[in-house]
Amino acid sequence: DEQERWSAVDDYISGLLVGPDPALDSALEANARAGLPAIDVSPAQGKLLHLLARAIGARSILEIGTLGGYSTIWLAGALPAEGRLVTLERSPVHAKVARENIDRAGLGEFVEVREGPALESLPQLSGPFDFVFVDADKPSNPEYFQWALRLSRPGSVIVVDNVIRGGRVLESDSDDAAVQGTRRFTEMLATEPRVSATEIQTVGSKGHDGFALAVVLDG
Ligand code: SAM
Repeated sequence: DEQERWSAVDDYISGLLVGPDPALDSALEANARAGLPAIDVSPAQGKLLHLLARAIGARSILEIGTLGGYSTIWLAGALPAEGRLVTLERSPVHAKVARENIDRAGLGEFVEVREGPALESLPQLSGPFDFVFVDADKPSNPEYFQWALRLSRPGSVIVVDNVIRGGRVLESDSDDAAVQGTRRFTEMLATEPRVSATEIQTVGSKGHDGFALAVVLDG
């Protein structure tokens, strides 16, 4: 079926262009052992985040939604020696697994995993962050986007994951809070004069979904 084909193509892409990586592979294994849900970004998406951060020369990265740190490891791997990454995670179990995975990847000195609800941690952070990746509870995406803007500078890049939701983003009368949060976020993106943005829908091992990409504008 379609999903099998999308997954097979993702395997083909990662086989050629991503390849095995001991730190990333063992992070996924540790997540599974600890019973974490397999809702990390795919290998190809992880590498896309890494390449975007590298392309803009990001030195400071903010991530909202750590899980086991799979995307964190991809992003932190793009940092220069003096770089830093702060990642926010509500679940103490996820945060613990993530810290272990990040340490095993040799990235512990660059990364701070902050435990607690993101909306409580965000007011304590000082920016600007060059790159922000939003991937936590989707109903809060409008608030996370406002915080991402507040903690960025002109030229910063903001990526928000899971904005298509199998096409359910079209359902204006949906009673799914994730769909409604995503719709409110996308409307905000459309009217926010401080960014230029687009969304790209994707298919792959994680189904039909997509991400938003915004660049913070000058002045
Ligand atoms: N970015 C991760 C990756 O690709 O490897 C996946 C993150 S997963 C989709 C979402 C994470 O956000 C979960 O670990 C969940 O516990 C966390 N989360 C949910 N609500 C949160 C909140 N209010 N504050 C902080 N983290 C939250």
